[in-house]
Amino acid sequence: MDGGQVSTAAPEAHAGEPADLPAGPTRDLGPLVAELRRIVGEKWVYTQEHQLRTYESDGLLQYHVSPVAAVLPGSTEEIQAVVRACHAAQVPWVARGAGSGLSGGALPIDDGVLIVSTRLKRILDIDLANLRVCVEPGVTNSAVSAAVGPGFFYPPDPSSQIVCSIGGNVAENSGGAHCFKYGFTTNYVTGLELVLSDGELVQVGGKELDPAGYDLLGAFVGSEGTLGIATKVWLRIVPTPETAKTLVAFFDSTRVAGEAVSAIVQAGVVPAAIEMMDHLTIQCAEDMAHAGYPKDRGAALLVELDGAERECEARFEEVLAICERCGSDDIRVAKDEAQRALFWKTRKAAFPAMGRLAPNYFVQDGVIPRTKLPEALERIEELAQEAGLPVANVFHAGDGNLHPLVCYDGSKEGEAERAEELSAAILDVCLSVGGSLTGEHGVGVDKKKHMPKQFAEPDLAAFQKLRCAFDPDGLANPGKVMPTPRLCGEVPGPYRRHPLEIAGLAERF
Ligand SMILES: Cc1cc2nc3c(=O)[nH]c(=O)nc-3n(C[C@H](O)[C@H](O)[C@H](O)COP(=O)(O)OP(=O)(O)OC[C@H]3O[C@@H](n4cnc5c(N)ncnc54)[C@H](O)[C@@H]3O)c2cc1C
Repeated sequence: MDGGQVSTAAPEAHAGEPADLPAGPTRDLGPLVAELRRIVGEKWVYTQEHQLRTYESDGLLQYHVSPVAAVLPGSTEEIQAVVRACHAAQVPWVARGAGSGLSGGALPIDDGVLIVSTRLKRILDIDLANLRVCVEPGVTNSAVSAAVGPGFFYPPDPSSQIVCSIGGNVAENSGGAHCFKYGFTTNYVTGLELVLSDGELVQVGGKELDPAGYDLLGAFVGSEGTLGIATKVWLRIVPTPETAKTLVAFFDSTRVAGEAVSAIVQAGVVPAAIEMMDHLTIQCAEDMAHAGYPKDRGAALLVELDGAERECEARFEEVLAICERCGSDDIRVAKDEAQRALFWKTRKAAFPAMGRLAPNYFVQDGVIPRTKLPEALERIEELAQEAGLPVANVFHAGDGNLHPLVCYDGSKEGEAERAEELSAAILDVCLSVGGSLTGEHGVGVDKKKHMPKQFAEPDLAAFQKLRCAFDPDGLANPGKVMPTPRLCGEVPGPYRRHPLEIAGLAERF
């Protein structure tokens, strides 16, 4: 390819390996593997096929690639030495946390090394007086709140929080149900220690807010492992609210439930969470969680308010009234902590419950202006009917962050391809109403081909300049995020068709 202006055709979703990642080890990496073993110890370098199986996919199971080696360093110094060795050998690498990402961000490259942070699980410092905690990247999201609780907590709460790592959260700028009120990961990271792609160790930010200089924290959070590896993370924590009140309101359709969401927000209420489940999701989640939800209703809205007792009470009454006014005739208020937990369990059961509908599904992740929810959901339903595939919707309604689950049976001829096309059409709907390609799951390999739909060539070139400033040799997670990776130093110019395109052998995304 001429500097990556062209990439080969869209990855075949089910063939396993995205088409424009390197095609296999092209040289002997034995000396590098020996060096990795020397750095971290024999038992923390996996090279056998059966050992690498665990690491060949992340949560986007449609892709799988075996790296040359998966290495599990036990300290920052070891990560640094591993990255230095890769740099010396000019071998690309991919950082991996828990591997729960849904966009293929931690998908290995087959002539590269996978650097796994699961051994780095120490909570390094808890400073409640300054509302800070400092952790290693392999610490799980829920372990942070557990470490600082019960008086304090760490708000970003991806549904995968019991397994996903803080390093992965930082790289994906992860969100969750409570981000409507509390904000995303980026609002909580105050400092990072990073190993850059040449092995240099740098610190950006720290405990303090608003550090001097360029906002490199802002650049790193959400950079999907393409700017370096986070080895230490300083996080802001907040006091646990005095109380939380939770309800589930049932509606006839997602359209009216969507109108209730807008009405709640317009009334000036800021719930901690507003989550919606559509008809299909209610059915599947109820069969799994047994919360007593009516399986014939069109939509369920889970609303949680938290804060000071009296304010919470007053605002909760407002929300109840709005839900009734918008057409809900069945509103259930959590009587106690056990019932609140059951409401949340039912919501969080939604993804795994899809196994009841079909053996496979794509989790789509787009974000739209909240007021466009009814319009977008109707269009998605039409597309699902046209494609003849069920699409269940469960999402962070307050943020307008949709998660359509496109269900299919991969063993049926052509169904996976139809599901992928439908998934892409859903993204187009999000963009057409003024939304974005991803709300919280990242671009990874999955969505990079769609990036030019949202960004113009000069915008993408600006992203690439930043990436090259951090990683001039292109060793950190190459082949991800950017649709048409070009070599660092290449001067972007007007687009010229590549000979392979002209010959009809490759296409430009
Ligand atoms: C059932 C389920 C529910 C989910 N719900 C949510 C949700 O509600 N909200 C949400 O936002 N996401 C959700 N996710 C997606 C996923 O859990 C998040 O993206 C999470 O942050 C990934 O963390 P991880 O440790 O698994 O990262 P991985 O999948 O291992 O890696 C993700 C990315 O981070 C990079 N990376 C990992 N560690 C580092 C590091 N130390 N330094 C630099 N880069 C690094 C990788 O290279 C990759 O690009 C869900 C996933 C599942 C399976």
